Amino acid sequence: MVGLGQKNKGKVFLVGAGPGDPELITRKAISLISSCETLVFDYLANSEFRKYAAPGCEQINVGKSPGRHTVDQEQICEILVTKAREGKNVVRLKGGDPFVFGRCAEEMIALDNASIPYEIVPGVTAALACAAYAGIPLSHREYGSSISFLTGHEDIEKESLHVNFAKFGEVGGTLCVYMGMGKISEITQKLLDGGLPPEKPAAIVSHGTLPSQKKLITTLGNLVADAEVANLGAPAIIFVGNSIGLSTKQNWFENRPLFGKRIVVTRPEGQVSRLKNMLEKKGAEVLELPLIKIIPQEDKKLIAETFAGIATYEWVVFTSANGAREFFNIFFKAFSDIRSFGPMRVACVGEATAQEVRKFNLEVELIPDRSTGEDLAQALVATESLDSANVLVVTGNRNREILVGLLETVGHAIVDTLPIYQTDFADVIDAPDRAKFIEMGADAIVFASSSAALSYIEQEEDLQLEQGAKVPIHASFGPQTTDTLKENDLSVDIVAQDSTLESMLEAIEIHFQK
Ligand code: SAH
Repeated sequence: MVGLGQKNKGKVFLVGAGPGDPELITRKAISLISSCETLVFDYLANSEFRKYAAPGCEQINVGKSPGRHTVDQEQICEILVTKAREGKNVVRLKGGDPFVFGRCAEEMIALDNASIPYEIVPGVTAALACAAYAGIPLSHREYGSSISFLTGHEDIEKESLHVNFAKFGEVGGTLCVYMGMGKISEITQKLLDGGLPPEKPAAIVSHGTLPSQKKLITTLGNLVADAEVANLGAPAIIFVGNSIGLSTKQNWFENRPLFGKRIVVTRPEGQVSRLKNMLEKKGAEVLELPLIKIIPQEDKKLIAETFAGIATYEWVVFTSANGAREFFNIFFKAFSDIRSFGPMRVACVGEATAQEVRKFNLEVELIPDRSTGEDLAQALVATESLDSANVLVVTGNRNREILVGLLETVGHAIVDTLPIYQTDFADVIDAPDRAKFIEMGADAIVFASSSAALSYIEQEEDLQLEQGAKVPIHASFGPQTTDTLKENDLSVDIVAQDSTLESMLEAIEIHFQK
């Protein structure tokens, strides 16, 4: 251990993570998490934040979780001091804002006493986040001119309320009660005793900013009964005050088209995020279950030969977005100018593949109506331009035989293949959200390729849902994937019109709006 007074003393950052929505964390918090050496966290509404940590970062969970001793506050302070003395940069991550009922003061004092430097980063606190996401104004020029943050106790064992709620009944304004669900009857009664009328507007927002958010707008007199009927539980904020009566009629957060839907994305790691973001913007909760992995396969000799003769090809055929992406990666390692691509014509299996090619302002001349290798070959043959023509097929290790066979035997083309990546099944045991999927299931699972579907089928045993978990329906990106699912007796419930992310999203949306 490094003693006090030594130079390489670490530093502690007491950081708020916000209420749960991964987009409500600050940029400062993300940059500190990604550069720290030790991450100390307790219950967080979203495990997403931990993904920002660097690979070697030591992560210490000090929160309550099943089968583990709770770490008490004194021990947490000790961990912070010890790690900082070891010279570590420590991030202590807390839900919401660290200074709002977050026991940050205790940790600050412990660091002061140990003369350890620290910084504090605010976060979006639950009351403000819940109010915004439920459309509940906390102030109004006429109806509410003070806002109080109060704490009840969620722990029923604890006997008395710390806060004199009757007095706050007299104060009025807008009251925001944290940790109040366990004592909701007492709190309500005290507020009524303090002089608030039963018709005073009141609300509860539970799991605020999360895909499981629920809200209740009612009156103080009906609060307890209505909360029970609505089955609202912790974590939740109870709001009381006149401005609550002005709450939104639009319900913007909960009315998003995929709100409350849990959707599994099976794309390979590194390609998940665009679809994930698109689904989350529509309100869905996304589970990541990569079923395949893409391994670039650089046969240097073959690549060199292909590029040496690149001017001799009349067509280049891309059979997947991965292939197109990887092709241009290596192309620009060999050439600095797109004109080296030459005048060859471009064919793509589908729209998503074509999008990768158009990024370089290259025109895609041919996309078949159905995105399969066979349809692509037939469409090429129909151009009557293949006879004795040199054709380059850029592809992975799967599903290329039919395409190449048809181009050669029916089209009489001279085909060179350039395999530049390999698709392998990814082990689902390692998937970030496997445990959650098994426990809760999902509304839908999205297959982006035949290989993903095959991987799912092969690993079905490791994905057995627990009893009561929701059985997902299947969404397919294209005809080849659809065929694979059907051949294996799996239903196909949603199909993307043209195999792009946009059309997948649209199809999912339409399905769930029905
Ligand atoms: N420091 C946190 C509060 C910690 S106390 C903050 O600033 O938000 C824990 C209490 O916060 C919970 O009992 C609940 O009342 C509230 N809370 C935290 N996250 C919440 C959420 N997503 N929705 C509703 N209430 C939440």
